[in-house]
Amino acid sequence: MSKTMPLAHPFDDDKLKEECGIFGAVGVADAANFVALGLHALQHRGQEAGGIVVHDPVHGFNSARRMGYVRDNFTSHEVMQTLPGNIGIGHVRYSTAGNKGQTAIRDVQPFFGEFSMGGAAIAHNGNITNADALRRELIERGSIFQSSSDSECIIHLMARSMGRTIPDRMEEALRKVEGAFSVVAMTRTKLIGVRDPLGVRPLVLGKLGDGYMLASETCALDIVGAEFLREIEPGEMVVISAKSGVQSHFPFRRRQSRFCIFEHVYFSRPDSILGGRSVYETRENIGRELAKESPVEADLVCPVPDSGTPAAIGFSLQSGIPYAMGIIRNQYMGRTFIEPSEQIRNMGVRLKLNVNRALIRNKRIILVDDSVVRGTTSRKIKDMLLDAGAAEVHFRIASPPTAWPCFYGVDTPQREKLLAATMTEDEMRDHLGVDSLKFISLDGLYRAVGEAEGRDSKAPKYCDACFSGEYPVAPTDMIEKGFQLKAAE
Ligand code: SF4
Repeated sequence: MSKTMPLAHPFDDDKLKEECGIFGAVGVADAANFVALGLHALQHRGQEAGGIVVHDPVHGFNSARRMGYVRDNFTSHEVMQTLPGNIGIGHVRYSTAGNKGQTAIRDVQPFFGEFSMGGAAIAHNGNITNADALRRELIERGSIFQSSSDSECIIHLMARSMGRTIPDRMEEALRKVEGAFSVVAMTRTKLIGVRDPLGVRPLVLGKLGDGYMLASETCALDIVGAEFLREIEPGEMVVISAKSGVQSHFPFRRRQSRFCIFEHVYFSRPDSILGGRSVYETRENIGRELAKESPVEADLVCPVPDSGTPAAIGFSLQSGIPYAMGIIRNQYMGRTFIEPSEQIRNMGVRLKLNVNRALIRNKRIILVDDSVVRGTTSRKIKDMLLDAGAAEVHFRIASPPTAWPCFYGVDTPQREKLLAATMTEDEMRDHLGVDSLKFISLDGLYRAVGEAEGRDSKAPKYCDACFSGEYPVAPTDMIEKGFQLKAAE
């Protein structure tokens, strides 16, 4: 481990881990600089490693793949001068498949393949749910894998395709892939973007001068000053060049989209736009719904910063109970702490969060957090509040109980480690030792994202499998490994 390599969330082990972030640019001078800035804005989606591939007519394809943060790896003149060209793609990674938590440089994307019609690089956000079966089959037929990443299957499937162009081959490859994928890819002259037929993971299109950008979130367009044009639609493939602009088609069978509802709750940045709505606004709505569903008498509404903040503001606005920063986050601790000793590790959450004692003493506190996963951090935060003299602690959670693992590109603990998989809400309240504990309902969450009637149980509009146990795409590999789906009701 290098000195500057960040540890993966050393004090954030009680959150679902963000997936990956992807960015692409075409038709702009020094595309690598735009890609690096875009990836920097998407760093919350993956901190373990990042990579950039570019092409220019003189130097051909070039790439740099590094462990650690974008700011530490893709800012020096030394690195950036090795990445010339007007087209490029990039990826930031938290390992959701392959070697979990121990990313090796060989697993860092983008991946590159040389085909008879030229080279192509691809970067993937999501998780292929039939990757094990595909990999077995490909290896039997002679493919030699370079990494443990499920995304590499796409390159090998492309190599076996008879398609005449790279986009044709990509289309054919992706038809064989199940699960969640947003992909940015590039040839020598074309930037390609694809979203899986359910549109589980996000992908947006932007424009800057004569150039175009693709990004996981709109906040990455903002940082480079690109105009947000639209979201890539579920099942859509766009092929973009500076010369011909954006060509769009829909190679997959049209289906009801099932965007990840957790992107609204936690993964995406609050300054991004999802589904035409500000993520911040949606989170504030979640807080309002929560206050309507589960009111409680108290003196202050406090967020667990930063992810609980917009929902706490919404709760306060709806309930009329004053909002206060009862817990202060140390912005410089946690994700950048280098190789903590066991003793420092045991301090755990105190290194990152501190109670604002003067505010909390003798007060009844409503504490708003985005989710409860294992519950370990929630217990520690409650202890800190009681130690600081809080009279009562009421937890309000901005997502329904997380009772099922995600197989679509988000790292969740095994089902038995999820608190909500093994306990009822009352049991969780007693386990956490709080005066009350309430989660927003699934209907409430759907209302907060703009579905006035709540969740249509026959045709839900979002993926909510980690709450409902209803997986929109069968997690084939996991079922083979013994994962038990929810019994039909
Ligand atoms: S299972 Fe949960 S985290 Fe995973 S894609 Fe579905 S809603 Fe998102």
